[in-house]
Amino acid sequence: MRENLTDLAGMNGTAMNDSPRAANGEINADLNDVHRFGVASESLFRRFYRRLGRRQQLENELGRQRQIAQRHTAESAALRRRFERLDSEHRQRANELDRLTKILSSLDEGIIVQDVNGKVTMMNQAAQAMLGGKRAFWDSALGTLFEQFRAVDETAAELTPLGESDELPLNNRIIRAQLIAIGDEANRRIGTVIILRDVTHDALAERLKDGFVTHIARDMERPVGVIKLASELLSGQPEDAAVNQRLLDKMLRNIDVLDQLALELLDISRMNAGVFDVQREPAPIEDVIWSVVNGIESDVKRLGIDLLVMTRDLRGVSARGDDTRLQWALGHLIRNGATYSGEGGYVAVAARVETRQAKTYALISVSDNGVGISRQDLPHIFERFYRGAASRSADAAPGLGQGLTIARAICQAHGGFLEVESRLNIGSIFTMGLPLHEAVADVA
Ligand code: ADP
Repeated sequence: MRENLTDLAGMNGTAMNDSPRAANGEINADLNDVHRFGVASESLFRRFYRRLGRRQQLENELGRQRQIAQRHTAESAALRRRFERLDSEHRQRANELDRLTKILSSLDEGIIVQDVNGKVTMMNQAAQAMLGGKRAFWDSALGTLFEQFRAVDETAAELTPLGESDELPLNNRIIRAQLIAIGDEANRRIGTVIILRDVTHDALAERLKDGFVTHIARDMERPVGVIKLASELLSGQPEDAAVNQRLLDKMLRNIDVLDQLALELLDISRMNAGVFDVQREPAPIEDVIWSVVNGIESDVKRLGIDLLVMTRDLRGVSARGDDTRLQWALGHLIRNGATYSGEGGYVAVAARVETRQAKTYALISVSDNGVGISRQDLPHIFERFYRGAASRSADAAPGLGQGLTIARAICQAHGGFLEVESRLNIGSIFTMGLPLHEAVADVA
């Protein structure tokens, strides 16, 4: 440091002592130094300012980004709030739907919802139970009912009833069904609701009241009348007169008819209670057929209908079963054949033995050339209380629509079957299949 000071003093001393030229050179050199220093400091300042400017820029950018970030935070908070609101609405809707589904499933009424094309989109438990399963819809009377109103594409309101409610046989029950069209704001049909109520008890009570009782009373009227007349004639005869066999036979036949009616009533109540069973004795097929034909022939002929019997190789062939019930079932088929045939028609009873799926059956078929059964009615005629189109016409024979149900139940209780083939306006063939006495005994 001291040295430097001395140098500076020396330099000053030299400047005073040297020539003006030398002094100029030195000054120039100093000025150069100053200039260099100036240039250096200028670039230093420039750099300094540039850095300062850059820093400002960065700060501005940072500020902008911060604002964007703040905006985004605000937006995402709004989004989150919106999402939470939607989520809670969604959960509320799901709860409502859940509640609605629970209410629908707990209802005794069956509810079926269909889309605009008729596709079933919802069916509650009650409806499934009434139908015997979801898939049964289109094969049931409900499918037919829906088809009647399929073409309706305009509605009067949000919910518009389609026709009056109707009683339909479903799965051995009587169901009251109401179709309702669902409409949108422009009254265009966008779907269908079907409400089902099981009215079997009410309908049964109603039918028992004014159908069944009348029917049974009418069926009893004739045999009771005959028995009454025959017994009056007999009691009017002198005591020592010979036995009037003809009158006695008439009385016996009509007592059998009454007996049969009583049995039918008992069977119906047993079937309702689910305890129907039959006796298992050898029942010779030819005897079953001829007993029925002999008892029914005069009634059938009175209707102007021929009754033919064709049995082949049946001597010694017996079903294992209940003679009285089998006679009742066969009698019902023959009577139906005559009822649903016009005057001049025929009813033919034929029997044969046939093996089906390794089981041997006695087949008794009853064919007629009557009105036949439509394709719509055919799947339902064995359902209790179902009466086909022919029986619903004004001049149709009275009936309850349960004869075929009982006839089939009798065949099935024997381990057999009752089947039908029919063509409208051509005729029908009903075939009872009964396991043979020997065959069943062999298996047992
Ligand atoms: P019902 O005769 O009392 O109506 P059924 O159970 O005996 O009751 O028969 C059910 C339905 O089946 C009848 O209403 C009728 O439409 C149809 N049906 C039965 N047998 C015949 C037949 N031989 N020909 C035509 N239709 C028949």
